[in-house]
Amino acid sequence: MNLMKKCCLLLTLLALLFAVPAFSHSSPPVPSPTPPPEAVKTSILDLGRHLVLVNREHRISKTYIPQDLVLPRVATRKESLQEQILMTREAAQALEALFEAALMEEGHVLYAVSGYRSYGIQQILFNTKVQEVGSRERAQRRVALAGTSEHQLGLAIDLQAPSHLNLSQAFGDTEEGKWAGENAHRFGFILRYKTAWRDLTGISDEPWHFRYVGIAHATAMHQLDIPFETYVTYARMLPEYVLTGGSHVLLAGLIADLMAEKQPEALQALQKADEAGQESALRQATAPYLTGQSYEQALWYSYPTPKPTAEPWVDADEEEVLLHPSGSN
Ligand SMILES: [Zn+2]
Repeated sequence: MNLMKKCCLLLTLLALLFAVPAFSHSSPPVPSPTPPPEAVKTSILDLGRHLVLVNREHRISKTYIPQDLVLPRVATRKESLQEQILMTREAAQALEALFEAALMEEGHVLYAVSGYRSYGIQQILFNTKVQEVGSRERAQRRVALAGTSEHQLGLAIDLQAPSHLNLSQAFGDTEEGKWAGENAHRFGFILRYKTAWRDLTGISDEPWHFRYVGIAHATAMHQLDIPFETYVTYARMLPEYVLTGGSHVLLAGLIADLMAEKQPEALQALQKADEAGQESALRQATAPYLTGQSYEQALWYSYPTPKPTAEPWVDADEEEVLLHPSGSN
């Protein structure tokens, strides 16, 4: 391989990475958003954006930039990597909750490595990989072709742990990696690529790559242990209000039935319900699938009120003011 070429590519990549101006948490370098992509809207399931399927067959437009990119307040291995972890607001808040739970529940520290990536950056990463491994085909097993990466949606994040500071299969064997794989769904993330799903996803095992889809869908997929591609195939058969307002219990139940080629009775009622009847249709359709928990509990789990993005630390003096406000009378 031509060394000059490789150097040029790396230099271009570095130039692009560092072209992003330095910033603080208060002013992240958010790229200008574009309207929701028409290609994505018409050819790919687009339900509140979170079920957008992106893979080799379902590509995103070159010009697509998510509308509401923010910086999640989570740790990265080094300060400079903070510039690379932009995500959409909802996904960012969910990531903060995931990191907090890892620490509070198990004492695990996670690092975010890579969030939103533009089409251009993905193209450079891919071309660099082609140079490295010698063919586009081999490169595709390791790096997504531009337009086929979920990172362009602002809904994907790559994770590391202090004990494992690179992106490799071994992350899945670390305590942190195992915990993330088993718990990410509680915060709306799915482990997107597993070896068993390789034929469907086109990507090898990537225990570090998590995709935000929302708690209801993530938990349904986790319980069914099916890849996103399969889930979306069946999700398309459900009315949109079920996909945006049904709990994980209902979604997992309906999709398991559809996969078993049972025509769920509940589905007909859900399809017939008019707008005013949707809430009670959801409640009735969920009842047969509940196991132990109430309908409300299932809903609260799937749609908790999100906490606002964490505020800066409050120091003792400020806390004092909050606890004992003066001048209020
Ligand atoms: Zn990734």
